[in-house]
Amino acid sequence: MLPDSVVDITRRTSGDVPGHVWLVGAGPGDPELITLKGMRALQQADVVIYDRLAPLALLDHCRPDAIRVSVGKQAGWHSVPQEGIHGLLVRYAWEGRNVVRLKGGDPFVFGRGGEEMIALRRRGIPVSVIPGVTAASGCAAATGIPLTHRGVAAGVCLSTAHRQEGAADLDWTALAADRHRTLVFYMGLSQAGRVADELVRRGLPAGTPVALIACGTMARQRAVRCRLDNLMAAAHSDGLVSPCLIVVGQVVMLADPASVPWMESRQDIAAACPA
Ligand code: SAH
Repeated sequence: MLPDSVVDITRRTSGDVPGHVWLVGAGPGDPELITLKGMRALQQADVVIYDRLAPLALLDHCRPDAIRVSVGKQAGWHSVPQEGIHGLLVRYAWEGRNVVRLKGGDPFVFGRGGEEMIALRRRGIPVSVIPGVTAASGCAAATGIPLTHRGVAAGVCLSTAHRQEGAADLDWTALAADRHRTLVFYMGLSQAGRVADELVRRGLPAGTPVALIACGTMARQRAVRCRLDNLMAAAHSDGLVSPCLIVVGQVVMLADPASVPWMESRQDIAAACPA
């Protein structure tokens, strides 16, 4: 039995009353990492609009008559632009349908969930958010890297390494200043060289341990551990493909590569950063 607090979305609305939109975090890749609440919303939805990063296996749990719409990039196809996604959500909701917008990880962590929430609110459509396990948590758990650890890291900072045209750059000096904070970079595989350069230039020791984790929590997960000044080369390791996360900090040394499938530890790291 699910607790009473789990909201029932089976009631269909009709006429001028819009349906409800649920922004649901699907988790980082392993389909079992969706929340119970997210799964229940998915099972009851009239329409499911899903991203490239949402695990496709989750769609098996939709109602057989649910409308399924992919808005992610597929081979040879462009993704639906953000305004187009807003338009789809609004259209289906105004048809009186209950909609699940299924997003990889957590909708509010680099997921543009905030933009979708605001667009829906502006058009008078009720919207709720169901959180998900973000990639940082999923990848950390899957590789045995505690993001915070007493005496090693007192904080964690989630950033994107991908810079929007015209947007302000990250404050690299501030990022490099706190040695007791774990740094996690999303969308960073193609930016690995720049991340390393900026941090080393601002004074983070070149020997700081780093992990690159690709396809975390999925069967095809690959991880590489190296020194910060070797990050660029490590980013070209076999099997490291997008989606990929970069974790920087001493906590990386707490992982045990021998117990993590497909975790490679570069030889140079052991001497430079004793655990
Ligand atoms: N909302 C998502 C993030 C979307 S941005 C979340 O909360 O996780 C997309 C970026 O997330 C990717 O470029 C990558 O850096 C990261 N990411 C998502 N899933 C990942 C996974 N399974 N393994 C490694 N990185 C992942």
